[in-house]
Amino acid sequence: MTVVNATSLQQALEALHDHPGARLVQGGTDLMVEVNFNRTTLHDVVALRRVNELKRWHIAEDSQTIRLGAGIPYAEMERSPLCHHLPALAQAARTVGSPQIRAAGSLGGNLGTCSPAGDGLPVLSALDATVHLQSLDASRDLSIHEFMLGVKKNARQPNEVIVAVTLPVLNGFQGYAKVGTRNAMVISAASVCVVHDALGGTIRVALGAVAPTVVRTREAEAWLASQTNLAAPLTVTPELAREFGRRAAAECSPIDDHRSTASYRRHAIAVLVERLLLRANDHGKSPR
Ligand SMILES: Cc1cc2nc3c(=O)[nH]c(=O)nc-3n(C[C@H](O)[C@H](O)[C@H](O)COP(=O)(O)OP(=O)(O)OC[C@H]3O[C@@H](n4cnc5c(N)ncnc54)[C@H](O)[C@@H]3O)c2cc1C
Repeated sequence: MTVVNATSLQQALEALHDHPGARLVQGGTDLMVEVNFNRTTLHDVVALRRVNELKRWHIAEDSQTIRLGAGIPYAEMERSPLCHHLPALAQAARTVGSPQIRAAGSLGGNLGTCSPAGDGLPVLSALDATVHLQSLDASRDLSIHEFMLGVKKNARQPNEVIVAVTLPVLNGFQGYAKVGTRNAMVISAASVCVVHDALGGTIRVALGAVAPTVVRTREAEAWLASQTNLAAPLTVTPELAREFGRRAAAECSPIDDHRSTASYRRHAIAVLVERLLLRANDHGKSPR
């Protein structure tokens, strides 16, 4: 077994090229669980923890987009200044595991595992993120919707590193909420991200843990746009929010498993979507 402790992206890419089939490890909070439970065997490993290029972020000159390195830990996403640019991502990051897990776990690892319950993924979907992949010879950009293929399946090739994601910096409400069997240290049984693009006049919703991969509720989104003007300020009635939640829940395909039942998951999605839309409606309005 070869372990390469890469100190640059170039070194990591060369190591992947020289050791086909090597496993990448960033925080190890998914991979080492797999190893400990004998669900995977490691032959060669390329560790990314010391690759500083993967831990950087920057906002484009026109301030419209933000590029996040795949190795940035949740602990950084949940606090200032990143939390101001990407509030839903910060909320999702705060729900991940424990402080120890958040100090090590990353979006690159969440994307690499591609569990439908990964807390970062509904946020990336609702924000229509772009995933940047790089191999020794080439680089390519994929829409998050093309990247996530199914339960723990993604479009990454074995010789590629997920180097970063690009997200829009939007004006308007962003919210993330999840339910599980406890209030903390829990994998989602159902999760929702709602994003309001107040300038573009759209509401985008993504659901986690209720289908083989994250679901964008495009029919419900189109229905809502046909019912009310989605440019700021929103004027959403409680009845409209309830119907929107119901329609969004109709677009998922949950299953019964050890974490929950399909019917509870569908109910939870309807409630979370309704609540987040009402929060979006109240966002920025002074209390009466
Ligand atoms: C106690 C505990 C609680 C947890 N709670 C949550 C939770 O609440 N919500 C949640 O979403 N997750 C949770 N997780 C899972 C895990 O923390 C997250 O999925 C995290 O995002 C994984 O990131 P990582 O950097 O540790 O990934 P790693 O374990 O290092 O890697 C995970 C996978 O991604 C691949 N990979 C890593 N980086 C890259 C890259 N740059 N390019 C390509 N492939 C890459 C690896 O090869 C591996 O297949 C929990 C885990 C534990 C142990």
